[in-house]
Amino acid sequence: MHPFKYGKTVDLKEAINQLGSQPKANLIAGGTTLVDLLRLNVVTANHLIDINQLPIANIEIFEAKSSPEIGARIGALARNTDVAMHKQIIKNYPLISQAILSGASPQLRNMATVGGNVMQRTRCAYFRDTAVPCNKREPGSGCPAIGGLNRSHAILGTSESCIAVHASDMCVALVALDAQVLLSGPQGERKVALVDFYLLPGNHPEKENLLKPGEIIVQVELPHSPFAKHSHYLKVRDRESFSFALVSAACALEIKNGKIVDARIALGGVATKPWRALDAEKLLLGQSPSEGLFAKAGEVSILGAKPQKSNAFKVELTKRTVKRALLAAVGE
Ligand SMILES: Cc1cc2nc3c(=O)[nH]c(=O)nc-3n(C[C@H](O)[C@H](O)[C@H](O)COP(=O)(O)OP(=O)(O)OC[C@H]3O[C@@H](n4cnc5c(N)ncnc54)[C@H](O)[C@@H]3O)c2cc1C
Ligand code: SF4
Repeated sequence: MHPFKYGKTVDLKEAINQLGSQPKANLIAGGTTLVDLLRLNVVTANHLIDINQLPIANIEIFEAKSSPEIGARIGALARNTDVAMHKQIIKNYPLISQAILSGASPQLRNMATVGGNVMQRTRCAYFRDTAVPCNKREPGSGCPAIGGLNRSHAILGTSESCIAVHASDMCVALVALDAQVLLSGPQGERKVALVDFYLLPGNHPEKENLLKPGEIIVQVELPHSPFAKHSHYLKVRDRESFSFALVSAACALEIKNGKIVDARIALGGVATKPWRALDAEKLLLGQSPSEGLFAKAGEVSILGAKPQKSNAFKVELTKRTVKRALLAAVGE
């Protein structure tokens, strides 16, 4: 591990100044991702800015009457456990609670923060091994996962430069629910839809998101959700107790008079970013829930997939996961 300076800050502006004025400064929140990557020399930092004391850990829930646009604000420093166990989150946004609780271990979730979860890096084994090339770690060096060990890699949103999966569970649920992230930086504040915050790898897999130098994630905002009654997060993995997703599906339906009037399907474990299956969502609109319809949605959700030799099984697994998650969302 390279030596680095370590300091705490209690002031958001100071954190932004410190981060923006030094090319090798890095924020540390729960440290559950960053410390591993520092130890492996995958990430090097000259200065770690500990943001744990910034006042951005609140979880606020709003009534539609007093706040028609925003249903919840979750501070970037809210711990994953606090979000998952928050009574109003469980009531209004059960998908988020289920997704968080399906990830990592209780100890990790107690430390991990919402901002850190959004910013977590891929688990591609080549990315985490500095003895081998990797376009994401060293642009232009190559991608050994293409044609190599790629069982856990992406089949959607890939490029000829990178096929790494985005690893988060929580962000799949957030994307399904149209979450936005509030960013604060040297030029002020801006809001971005979480689904657009992430970039596809294209020719530049090293650039993973829209964050500009000095910008910090301050909070995640959610609109009011009509999906609490009919939603389900289903994660399929090698080891039920503690593992990243092979495939996951965050499914949410609004049903009125027996017909689906709004639908959300987001996929994890199969794409280079948390993935909205928009065509599959459209297919459900105006229809009555049924096993046959949900099977079709599963098939459509994976159209355009480009599997590799060892991850082709994810195509069928995704179809089945989406179908099962939709059935669970309607209580079957
Ligand atoms: C063994 C293990 C198993 C895991 N299993 C799962 C799983 O099954 N599902 C899953 O979803 N996740 C899993 N994770 C990942 C875990 O969810 C993340 O490590 C955690 O959410 C990161 O949060 P943190 O606060 O610890 O981030 P940190 O490690 O502190 O930071 C991570 C990155 O985010 C940046 N950052 C932190 N906060 C901000 C902010 N506010 N603004 C801008 N940048 C910021 C940091 O600079 C750093 O680059 C696992 C992790 C481990 C170690
Ligand atoms: S898939 Fe992406 S992260 Fe993995 S080796 Fe290839 S370039 Fe690196």
